[in-house]
Amino acid sequence: MKSKNDNRKNNKMFKDNETIDYLIIGNSAAGLAAAESIRELDKSGEIMILTGENYLNYSKPMITYFLSGTVNLDMIHFKDDKFYKDNRLDVRLNTRVKSIDTDKMFLITDDGNRYEFRKLLIASGGRPIVPKIKAIGTKSSGFIDGTNYDKTEGIFTLTNLEDAVRVKNYIEKNGIKNISILGGGLIGLKAAEAFLEKGIDVNIIELADRILAATFDREASGIIEKKLKSTGSNIYMNNTIEEIHIGSGKITGYKLKDGEKMECRLLVIAVGVNPDTGFISSGSLDMARGIIVDDHMRTSAKNIYAAGDVVEGPDMISGGKRNIAIWPLAVRQGTAAGLNMAGGNKKYGGGFFMNSVELLGIPSISMGITNVAEEKEGFEVLKYLNTNQDMYRKVIIKNNRIIGVILVNNIERAGIYSGLIRNEIDISSVKENISREDFGIIHLPADYKKHLVVGEGIEV
Ligand SMILES: Cc1cc2nc3c(=O)[nH]c(=O)nc-3n(C[C@H](O)[C@H](O)[C@H](O)COP(=O)(O)OP(=O)(O)OC[C@H]3O[C@@H](n4cnc5c(N)ncnc54)[C@H](O)[C@@H]3O)c2cc1C
Repeated sequence: MKSKNDNRKNNKMFKDNETIDYLIIGNSAAGLAAAESIRELDKSGEIMILTGENYLNYSKPMITYFLSGTVNLDMIHFKDDKFYKDNRLDVRLNTRVKSIDTDKMFLITDDGNRYEFRKLLIASGGRPIVPKIKAIGTKSSGFIDGTNYDKTEGIFTLTNLEDAVRVKNYIEKNGIKNISILGGGLIGLKAAEAFLEKGIDVNIIELADRILAATFDREASGIIEKKLKSTGSNIYMNNTIEEIHIGSGKITGYKLKDGEKMECRLLVIAVGVNPDTGFISSGSLDMARGIIVDDHMRTSAKNIYAAGDVVEGPDMISGGKRNIAIWPLAVRQGTAAGLNMAGGNKKYGGGFFMNSVELLGIPSISMGITNVAEEKEGFEVLKYLNTNQDMYRKVIIKNNRIIGVILVNNIERAGIYSGLIRNEIDISSVKENISREDFGIIHLPADYKKHLVVGEGIEV
C-alpha cells in the first residue's frame, strides 16, 4: 500500500550552494512546528528541511497502528504536500546529516553535499538503543549491537515508519505466528498490542520487575499485565536475553538470563531510545544525554537551536533540565524555537512528562514524576485501587503540590490533574478528596475553582 506522499521526489526550491536562512534537521513533530512558526514571522526567508527518511512525514505514535493494519499510510501523515508548498518549505528526503561545523555554520550530509546556514534547528529526535548481546552462529563479531543487529534477518527495532513497514512485510512473507519483544515499555507494549490484533502470539521479556516500569508502579502495571496474560501472552519479568541464536543469517532462538531456551523467528528490540546526536562532534555543543537548551531553545552555539526528543530542556517539575521524549512537548518546543529563530522572543515555559495510551482496551495516563519511593522524605502518595473494576488512581504530592499522577481506567479527570500540576496549585485544603474515585471540579480548592469557572476555563 503506497501513499501518494511516500517516495516523493525531493522538491528543491533553493540551489544546493546558497546559504540557507533557516536550515532544519528533522521533518517531524519539532521540525515542522518550527518551520510553521518561522513562516508566521518571516514570509520570505528560505527554509530547508533535511530528513534521513524517505517519507514526507508521519505520526510516530501511530506506527504500531499501521503495523496492526488499523490505519494505512495515507492516514498517518499529519501534514500534506500543500503544507510544504504553502509555507515554501524545501524538504530533502533521504538526506542524512553527517557532521556540523558549528563555528563556520555549515553541515555535511552523507551524500557529500555541504549546506551553509544563517540559523540552524536540530530536531533529529531519538535513536533506538540496541544492547550488546552475545550471538551464536554469526560469521562476524560474535555479538549483535546497534551497529549490526539489522544484518541478521528477523531482528528489528521499532521506532520509525520504515521499521514498521519492514516488520509488517517480514511477518507476511514468513508467515510469522509468534513474536518476542525485548522490553516491556511503551513501545514494546504498543507493538505487542499490534501483533495480538494480527492474531500473533507474543512473548515479552522485561528486565524490571514489572512492565511499563519507567512510569507505572506495581498496581498500575499489574492491571495491564493481567489483561496481557488473558490474551495468552507470556511475560518474562526480571529477565533478559543473554544469547541470540542465529542460523543461515536468520534468528532461530535465544537463551534467557534464567537459562530457558526459546525458539524465535522474529525479535523486536524495544528497550528504549536515546537522543539522536551521533552527527554532533563532542565539544561543539553543550550536551548531557541530549543537547542542552535554554528556555528559548538556544543551544550553546550562536544561531543554533534544538527542539524535541533530542534535547534536555527546562523541566517544569524539578526546575532543572531533562529529556522528556513526548510528541506534544516536541511540538511546543519546535514552535518556540521557530519563533525565536525568526527574531521573536518566545519563552518555552518547560514541560513535564505526560503520556496517554490505551493498551488492550485499557485507557491510562501517567504524568509528572510517578515513581518516587513512598518512604522518601517529603513525598506523600495517595492511592485508590478498585480491583473489581481494574481502576487505579495514584497521586504524588510534594510540598502540598501535585507532582505526579497515574490513572488507569476512568481517566476522564486527567485534565484537572494536569492543570493542578502545571499551575502548581496548593491542594492542602482538599487533600482528602484528591485520589477519590469521583474526584472532580467540585473538590478543587475554592480559589482555583473560581479561576477555572470565570478565568481560563476548564483545562483538558
Ligand atoms: C512507537 C512509538 C510510539 C510512541 N507513542 C507516543 C505516544 O503515545 N505519545 C507521545 O506523546 N509520544 C509517543 N512517542 C514519542 C513521539 O513520537 C516523539 O516524542 C516525537 O516523535 C518526537 O518528535 P521529534 O520531532 O523530536 O523527533 P522524531 O519524531 O524522532 O523525528 C526526528 C526527525 O529527524 C530526522 N533525522 C534524525 N537524524 C537525522 C540526521 N542525521 N540527518 C537528517 N535527518 C535526521 C528523522 O528522519 C526525523 O525526520 C512514540 C514514539 C514511538 C517510536
